[in-house]
Amino acid sequence: MRRPLVVGNWKMNMTEVFAVALVDQIAEALPSGDDVEVAVAPSFPCLRAVADRLAGTSVLLGAQNHHWEDHGPFTGEVSPRMLAEMGVRLSILGHSERRLLFGDTDERVQKKVAAAHRHGLLPVVCVGEQESERDDGRTLAVVERQLRRALAGTELETGTEVVIAYEPIWAIGTGRVATPDQIGEVHRLIREQLASMFGSTTAEAVRILYGGSVTPETCRPVLDLAEVDGALVGGASLAARSFLEIVGAAA
Ligand code: PEP
Repeated sequence: MRRPLVVGNWKMNMTEVFAVALVDQIAEALPSGDDVEVAVAPSFPCLRAVADRLAGTSVLLGAQNHHWEDHGPFTGEVSPRMLAEMGVRLSILGHSERRLLFGDTDERVQKKVAAAHRHGLLPVVCVGEQESERDDGRTLAVVERQLRRALAGTELETGTEVVIAYEPIWAIGTGRVATPDQIGEVHRLIREQLASMFGSTTAEAVRILYGGSVTPETCRPVLDLAEVDGALVGGASLAARSFLEIVGAAA
């Protein structure tokens, strides 16, 4: 059985004061039990303060990105080693905003996945097509390419060492959620690809999340799908109430 995971991607929002208040509200109201795993990914400057508040809670601390090297002349970058030392447990890699706005390629994502694993971070690898790619019938080819390249050279022992997030780019921050049929089709493809790369037992253990305009109002039909193991949530993770409602639905 795969344990559902809900990850809040705070993006470039929240100063430290707001980040601490938000994470306190989330940690306090989180339902007890281990039906669902919860993670939040604040911006880098808020990580230390949020890490302190999360100590002793079950909420995992996540980062939104990192470099693939451990140290060196990379002005402005943050290394996975630094994050691991701060208590970060998970990293969102290959988010479409990183790919489209900051030049992250499949090859970079692959190097970042390897770097995350070197430091015991759980990579949440984002894949997803642009609207024009879907219109051209290329969704499955695009997702397959992103997945294969991101995980090239990766060795998985159990399948729990990586999480995949299917995020159609046209659904991110737009209020347009992919339909259950669209999500189911891509998630099945992802699991088939994982099986061909790592074997079916390992592939069965990999959690595959959906992301793209998930809110308390839209989450039920998505999270009810057998193919979906949780959600990567952007906008709706910025308020405790909406994030917790999604967590409740995932549980
Ligand atoms: C995201 O950016 O990963 C995301 C899913 O954003 P939103 O929930 O706001 O669409």
